[in-house]
Amino acid sequence: MKLLVTGGAGYVGSVCAAHLAEAGHEVVVLDDLSTGHRDAVPDGARFVEGNLAEIAGTVLGEGGFDGVLHFAARSLVGESVVHPELYWDNNVVAALRLLEAMREHDVPRIVFSSTAATYGEAEQVPILESSPTRPTNPYGASKLAIDMMLTSYATAYGLAATSLRYFNVAGAHGRYGERHTVETHLIPIVLQVASGHRESVAIYGDDWPTPDGTCVRDYIHVEDLAEAHALALANAAPGRHSIYNLGSGQGFSVKEVVEACREVTGHPIPSAVAPRRAGDPAVLIASSAAAAAALGWQPTRTDIRTIVGDAWRFTQDRLPV
Ligand code: UDP
Repeated sequence: MKLLVTGGAGYVGSVCAAHLAEAGHEVVVLDDLSTGHRDAVPDGARFVEGNLAEIAGTVLGEGGFDGVLHFAARSLVGESVVHPELYWDNNVVAALRLLEAMREHDVPRIVFSSTAATYGEAEQVPILESSPTRPTNPYGASKLAIDMMLTSYATAYGLAATSLRYFNVAGAHGRYGERHTVETHLIPIVLQVASGHRESVAIYGDDWPTPDGTCVRDYIHVEDLAEAHALALANAAPGRHSIYNLGSGQGFSVKEVVEACREVTGHPIPSAVAPRRAGDPAVLIASSAAAAAALGWQPTRTDIRTIVGDAWRFTQDRLPV
């Protein structure tokens, strides 16, 4: 297939673009490099630098596209609270421009990078796709708005759409991995301590209602995620908008993640308990039963040491210890 990958110079987008190119698809990456990296665009993909909302029509206008994988977005919860306009503009308005360009140029299918943040505080775990969607920040709200947009385009225009709601993405795929200018995610932060680029890790609260008092999350390997995107693309049906949660179905506490990082790196990784972070739910665990049933998707890299190990290899390649 000829595929447009928006945000293909970012973390999840570059790994998915690499998988698709390796599988023989013709891949065009569109990215404004605001948070992505030019050298993360996979070999074998054509790169177009530019603003999605402005040039989606031009890029798709060259014709022949079979589908879009849409990753380009702002994705920092804290930033979304302080600057919501960035999220309504870069996420929601840009997605509308993209969908209109797809409609104009007869591009039949889209796989969208949605998020567990669309659910907000979970009433029950594991979280099903039928759980209430009550996002607690503009980031989650912007992604939910796009999910709703996709439902309406599937109904009105026969678009084949799939939203994949990721839980905590981690790990790496060879030279494609996580490198944010401002790092807020647990595993990369812990590995920065192991590589000597940070003194210690702050554990945001040890008085949560969980077995060891620290927050529990469902970590999903980015390669398992990439496989889900390929399956979603293959299973898309005109006029249908499908939504699937993607997680490993297992929860690991912050302390368990830090301990796994100690085992993998051999570094003592000093840690200190800090106040809770605003907006953090105690436990987030996915039910991915729907993706298993409909797509035949099964995550295979669910051991937290495998996930951390791949992230550590990536970190070491980039930041010599
Ligand atoms: N966390 C932490 N210290 C950090 C970064 C994160 O204790 O320096 C915790 C955070 O409170 C959450 C978990 O680690 O419970 C995962 O956070 P992350 O930001 O990686 O992902 P999120 O769950 O927010 O999407």
